[in-house]
Amino acid sequence: MPYTVPKLTDFSASALASAVRDLFSALDSESVAVHNDADWKSFRDRWMARKNGILTQVNDVWLKAAPKEVKRDVGQRVNAVRARVEEQVDSIRPKRVFSFRRSEGRVVEPEPAVAATGARGPTVIISEPRPLDISLPGIHRPIGAEHPVIQTMNEIVSVFRNLGYSVEEGPEIETDYYNFESLNFPPNHPARDTQDTLFIANQESKPLRERLLLRTHTSPVQIRTMEKLKPPIRIVIPGKVYRNDPPDASHSPMFHQIEGLAVDYNIKFGDLKGTLDHFIKALLGSSVKTRFKPSFFPFTEPSAEMMVSCFICGGSGWRGNDPCRPCKQSGWIEILGCGMVDPNVFEFVKDNGYDPKKVSGFAFGMGADRLAILKYGVDDIQLFFQGDVRFLEQFG
Ligand SMILES: [Zn+2]
Repeated sequence: MPYTVPKLTDFSASALASAVRDLFSALDSESVAVHNDADWKSFRDRWMARKNGILTQVNDVWLKAAPKEVKRDVGQRVNAVRARVEEQVDSIRPKRVFSFRRSEGRVVEPEPAVAATGARGPTVIISEPRPLDISLPGIHRPIGAEHPVIQTMNEIVSVFRNLGYSVEEGPEIETDYYNFESLNFPPNHPARDTQDTLFIANQESKPLRERLLLRTHTSPVQIRTMEKLKPPIRIVIPGKVYRNDPPDASHSPMFHQIEGLAVDYNIKFGDLKGTLDHFIKALLGSSVKTRFKPSFFPFTEPSAEMMVSCFICGGSGWRGNDPCRPCKQSGWIEILGCGMVDPNVFEFVKDNGYDPKKVSGFAFGMGADRLAILKYGVDDIQLFFQGDVRFLEQFG
């Protein structure tokens, strides 16, 4: 026989206490029968529904009917009843508990289990498996880190991005035309020998300019971009390049270059110097000095190597009593090659607005691996490509 709120004729303290006791005992026995969400909802509605819930009935039948002189007393008891009912309804509310099943060391899909716990009354665990024990140590998953070479390339790119340069990329398998011819390396020119090129086999039946090779520098992307975009342009080109170099402490058949190109209508050598000086100070600190010395590249004229004052020994050539190896005690380190774009290069993209009589520009390129080696004091380039976690995690 379900509990109903009795009408009171006797409002004495003892009669009220007895009525409240009966109500609480009904509340306890009904809450024990709550096993799932649906049970709980009907339990809640039965006791707390605004329209005809037990609390509402208590209000109507006990408080409103009470004679004036005991109203205050009854009011206090009704408030206590309300507080206790609300607490009980809240405390036995089933909670969603996620438990994890381990299967051969692998975490499988979490399975929701419904559990109800009550401050009063028993704890009800409705379904297996075990709930999550938050005191167990978790599974340690090391967080990966950016590879030091990628980190260095990203830093370089971000300096140029702030100067308004955009990023361009191109294929690693390139044609002879883009890798050499259009960059002013004519067929049979001796400058080609310096590139130690890896050619793709069985290409002899094709015309020379269509033969495939692994690009030896990121410079083909300069031509590809000038074919695509009209001047002015300002781009940086990060990427992998390949040369027939046997691996040793400072050589690898695959390495990373990053180069840049700026073309506009009135670019002068001073723009090149100012840009690169700003770049290297942003990358290595404002105290480094820069110096340019003449050099040769087929696609730039004039060409230069930029040297920076050694940021390892501070330009002194010594580290304590030991000679500084990275700068070979000279106090200067060669960091990049650069120059004004050779007008012959513009001839190849003349039809897209690059008339060598009207436009000028500068280009520069550097080895990202070499910069990373200098920056992190790594003594063997091979460490970058062996995938040894003990080495790589030092950069995390
Ligand atoms: Zn030095």
